[in-house]
Amino acid sequence: MRILLRGVRPIGGNKTDVLIEKGVIKGISPGIRVDSDRVFDLDGAVLLPSLVDLHSHTRQPGGDEQETVESFSRAAVHGGVTSAVSMPNTSPVVDNPAIVSWLINEFRRVGLVDVLPAAAITVGQQGKELTEMAELKKAGAVAVTEDGRSVRDSRLMRYALEYARTVGLPVFLHSEDERLSDGGAMNEGRTSLELGLKGIPGISETVGILRDLEIAAYVGARIHVCHISLARSVSIVSQYKKQFPGLVSCETAPHYMLFSDRDVAGYSTNFKMNPPLRDDSDRKALVKAVKRRDVDCIATDHAPHTEWDKELEFSMAPFGIVGIETWLSSLVHYFVNAGILGWDDIVELCCDNPRRILGLPLVRIEEGAPADVVVVDPESEWEVSPGSLFSKSKNSPFLGKRLAGKVLLTIKSGRVVYSD
Ligand SMILES: [Zn+2]
Repeated sequence: MRILLRGVRPIGGNKTDVLIEKGVIKGISPGIRVDSDRVFDLDGAVLLPSLVDLHSHTRQPGGDEQETVESFSRAAVHGGVTSAVSMPNTSPVVDNPAIVSWLINEFRRVGLVDVLPAAAITVGQQGKELTEMAELKKAGAVAVTEDGRSVRDSRLMRYALEYARTVGLPVFLHSEDERLSDGGAMNEGRTSLELGLKGIPGISETVGILRDLEIAAYVGARIHVCHISLARSVSIVSQYKKQFPGLVSCETAPHYMLFSDRDVAGYSTNFKMNPPLRDDSDRKALVKAVKRRDVDCIATDHAPHTEWDKELEFSMAPFGIVGIETWLSSLVHYFVNAGILGWDDIVELCCDNPRRILGLPLVRIEEGAPADVVVVDPESEWEVSPGSLFSKSKNSPFLGKRLAGKVLLTIKSGRVVYSD
């Protein structure tokens, strides 16, 4: 299979042609003329390595009402993603090697996206007994995490981090002091008072992060702090990075860079997630921290929920929004096209750094490199609507919005897995 991409701009550079053959990039130069099975005229669209999401809820196994292996795969490639780390808070919980293997095989069967399973830290995420991390790694788990909650028992957390270190698995941390969150529904502050909703204070995140960082530094484990929502969390992580090189990396998600707790004013549950949207000064600080790379990556925290669950009143509705399909578009629309982030920033934040954290080889746009790429048009727009999303769930805060940065083509191992 030979694929010719005509007139693409690798990482936003000059227009050229790119030839893909037998799963690799075979040639890059203007005016390539060879017989090809498929030729795409892409006229100035941007060619990037395909994206790697460090934080996805595939809802598999067990959550077929919200997402299936098939619908998640289609959503991922629509978003330019060809690898995604799946969270283990499923039913049953991903806490044994058989489920890890099942996930990998199911996604292989569909054949669009590689799932990189993160396994649970404790059996059933019950916070009592550690999982067999060595066996989980052998089966293909790339990390362990208790995502959806944190490990409450600090002593168990210490043993978990020691075990993960011995086995060589990174620990992805949903750092939260749940006693401080105390059943809140949105950010605690002036807006929560005005709206009459119970707040989740910033300290529930920072206290969680501080505890986890202290234990990790003590035992020398490698950790990755998930979905940071606060400027204060960034400065805490930065301090530990300085003091303990190689100890910690961290991520935020597009919604924390784009929305604030004011967006909750309409009581739309598509603005309810955990951690919650914070105030506008945190939002602005996160954008700066991403630019400075005090935040290492942007991940989606794609969290599908059914319409009937999200139709509950705000305080009762589940946390989480879908995001894998709007990930790249929203970053292009609001940051690249506005001159706030460059294409090289996108590559580092959404492709290279996630791969570094997982210990995967980087994908470069160069001859001989694996053809795992995405073509995105920074000018062409699409409307985010229930009909345009491939995910089985439609709980997106972008519903009704038009976003530039449409994904035209996603190619995995030299095979077209999505084409607009
Ligand atoms: Zn989480």
